[in-house]
Amino acid sequence: MNKPEIASRIEKLKKLINHHRYQYHVLNKLEISEAALDSLKHELFVLEQENPELITPDSPTQRVAGKVLPKFEKVPHEVPQWSLNDIFHASELADFDARMKKMLGVDSLDYVAEQKIDGLHIVLTYKKGLFVMGATRGDGSVGENVTENLKTIESIPLKLEREVDVIVEGEVWMSSHVLGELNVERQKNNEPLFANPRNAAAGAIRQLDSSVARSRKLDCFVYDLSRADFPIPETQEAELKLLGELGFKVNTHFKKCDNADEILAFWKHWSVHKKDVPFWLDGVVVKVNRRDYQEQLGYTGKGPRWSVAFKFPAEETTTIVENIEISVGRLGTLTPLAVLNPVSVAGTTVTHATLHNEDRIRELDIRIGDSVIIRKAGDIIPEVVSVLYDLRKGDEKPFHMPKNCPICGSVTLRKERESATYCTNSACYAQEKEKIGHFVVGFDIVGLGPGIIERLMDAKLVNRPTDIFFLKKDELLGLEGFGEKSVEKLLKNIEASKKIRISKFLFALGIRHIGEESALLLSKNLFKEKMYSVLDWYVAVKKISLEELKNIHGIGEISGESFFDYFQSETVSQLFEDLNRAGVEFMGDASQIKGSKLEGKTFVLTGTLPNLSREEAKRKIEELGGHVSGSVSKNTDYVVAGEEAGSKLEKAKELGVKILGEGEFKKLITNQ
Ligand SMILES: [Zn+2]
Repeated sequence: MNKPEIASRIEKLKKLINHHRYQYHVLNKLEISEAALDSLKHELFVLEQENPELITPDSPTQRVAGKVLPKFEKVPHEVPQWSLNDIFHASELADFDARMKKMLGVDSLDYVAEQKIDGLHIVLTYKKGLFVMGATRGDGSVGENVTENLKTIESIPLKLEREVDVIVEGEVWMSSHVLGELNVERQKNNEPLFANPRNAAAGAIRQLDSSVARSRKLDCFVYDLSRADFPIPETQEAELKLLGELGFKVNTHFKKCDNADEILAFWKHWSVHKKDVPFWLDGVVVKVNRRDYQEQLGYTGKGPRWSVAFKFPAEETTTIVENIEISVGRLGTLTPLAVLNPVSVAGTTVTHATLHNEDRIRELDIRIGDSVIIRKAGDIIPEVVSVLYDLRKGDEKPFHMPKNCPICGSVTLRKERESATYCTNSACYAQEKEKIGHFVVGFDIVGLGPGIIERLMDAKLVNRPTDIFFLKKDELLGLEGFGEKSVEKLLKNIEASKKIRISKFLFALGIRHIGEESALLLSKNLFKEKMYSVLDWYVAVKKISLEELKNIHGIGEISGESFFDYFQSETVSQLFEDLNRAGVEFMGDASQIKGSKLEGKTFVLTGTLPNLSREEAKRKIEELGGHVSGSVSKNTDYVVAGEEAGSKLEKAKELGVKILGEGEFKKLITNQ
């Protein structure tokens, strides 16, 4: 960007941030996530640091957050309430550390790292040891008198252990557990849910009726002694100890760090283990430990120079869409992908985000060059959440789905009733690669990951799924990265996969609209024999009428038609000849499970079982006629949950599905 462009970007950022700041801090409304807003603020902050002549007094970086709501008595703060500068990366921590040392002229410096709790900042005043006033931060110089509400919080002492005059600062918070209960209650009453405990705590403290605050079971940590009628301790560490002695609740999860590496380790630990504490954490507060150093370093207009908030990786952030590309998937689906200006989200660098399909692009009106908010949660592919239209310059380019496949050049097609666009060429390379990968998963062949499949395809050893069964030892040994042992193991796994359940085989084919569930339904209803030769089965499947398919309970019109069309197509006969030649055999799903207690039962496995691997558990269930599914639904009979079971367990509880531990599961499978 050149200077005028930077100036224009800064102006637009300021306007946008101010709008959202007002919504969030004054009206308690969340239009974009706090993380996304932080990201915009950070961009503005960095631009201003690089171009200090463009900083104006009205910039959001020049003030502390919040306007006072008119409801409560306004009280001026005796001690100004600063806010901390945010940092997001290890490199920024190193910069901070270097700056502190340079300003103090020292070679080593120790710090205190404390958990940054996502709560409500409050200021408590005590006279002769008695609690006389509690106030919110407000705009930093004037807060709201919320004494009565704060008195309902049991962890705030009404009388201190010593008869002293002090002003302290702390954080009011609500536990994740209480937040969950509160939201359940609010849902019942058709009230809007709280997005985080900070909003819930702030809402409670700002209620004029203090019984509401009491009912919300709030808690409070105190971490700063800002004024006292006795000498304040010489270090932050000693200060925390003293606060505890005075009778305040002090968060015990803090650490004195001898250098920046120790801070980083503390930060990393809690960014991974933040769920281990009952309150929400959004980062680590870093403070220079020695008070004389703090005084020497002093304050900027905004806050203390000697402290920063080192935020945890946000799950949302902002970036720019540099281009929109197309990837072709297993079913020939063309998925538009946003190529992003690389950005760090949730601890990883994100360069692409999915745009799902043409409708989604139109709905968002996303254009090449747009500034966007992206989200990355867990292992899910990052996605574009929204477009920041206010930041547009006017030269952003709209995107249209291509008329030809970008991989093979074939004509693309969008069917009625569907949002996806397809490549019409079934031999398209990318399509083929995905298809082979899916086939391998369906056949449960261990040791054939996507990378290996690609190598086999590039070596032209595998051009279509069934080629897997004709791989030769010496061919494989000629490839880079394949040793004698690994080749033998792979060939053994391939051999073992040749006896396959029909349901698994149907799934492996990757027929559009036939997932694991419908494959099982079809198999059980249509193929009652115990074993089938490949060619007999193929003859039988071609005789099934469309009517018959549609009459199977649970198979809809779309899946039925898709299945029917697939087997009527002449091109699949080659596949069955190949499978037959390879010695593949089909096992019926219905006959094997007759009389078994697990017949027709659907299981979902989640978490780690102490003594049983997931593969073993799956095999056991299938041997006894049960079926293992990847996701919990109302059709699930049992969820077998081990250590660190996640969302699947939650879902099971929600739906009232029976949950088994390893012991109960073992009992179930041995009592057959
Ligand atoms: Zn293609």
